Amino acid sequence: MEEKINKLTAIYEKIENQVDNLKKKTCVSCIVNCGECCKRFEPYISVLEAVPLAKYLRNHPEKHKLYKRNVEQNKVKWNACPFYDNETHCTVYDIRPLICRLFGFSANRNRQQKIIFATCTKIEQEMPEKVKVARILTAKGLDVPIYQDIAQEIQDIDFVMATDYHPFSKSVKIAMDNYDSIMQDNFQKTENSAHSFSDLLRRKIRTGEFL
Ligand code: SF4
Ligand code: SF4
Repeated sequence: MEEKINKLTAIYEKIENQVDNLKKKTCVSCIVNCGECCKRFEPYISVLEAVPLAKYLRNHPEKHKLYKRNVEQNKVKWNACPFYDNETHCTVYDIRPLICRLFGFSANRNRQQKIIFATCTKIEQEMPEKVKVARILTAKGLDVPIYQDIAQEIQDIDFVMATDYHPFSKSVKIAMDNYDSIMQDNFQKTENSAHSFSDLLRRKIRTGEFL
């Protein structure tokens, strides 16, 4: 499993570089202190992406306590990501899942195989000119993360875990509960998940449903 985590980390790093380059070339960026996509919904992630988070929680019992409290609070209060902190924002930035990396800064390949830059409603509204530049450069071949390709890359690491999608805290729970079998490359899918990664991201970008 360590090798699979390394492959996932390599994909995360590649996306990081692509997004940095995109930001440099287009000046598209998050709105300062926004965090809306972390505060107002709990994303769906795959069990594969939850494994580094489960590993982190197992190695940091005090963070695990805090995490469990946030999950409980979410049930009665608001539906924020359990790793979000109002002051420090993302508490697992280096190991945050794919949707957090791609949301706002990725592209979609349409039926005609054209690459279309896709961003969040906030960015679209606040910096339309920069988004326009990003769309033009992306269409001309700027190297941006394309989510169908990323979805394929993570499925190539481990099809079963990469296609097992649940709300964030549920995927983390599955990864925690099955940690030993996962580490021995013996994970059995627990139940069918309803959506694929690209379906979920496409829907969120198209509808801006949590903004
Ligand atoms: S991706 Fe959009 S909603 Fe999320 S923090 Fe950035 S600007 Fe805000
Ligand atoms: S993992 Fe981090 S970036 Fe992703 S939704 Fe949670 S707080 Fe936001």
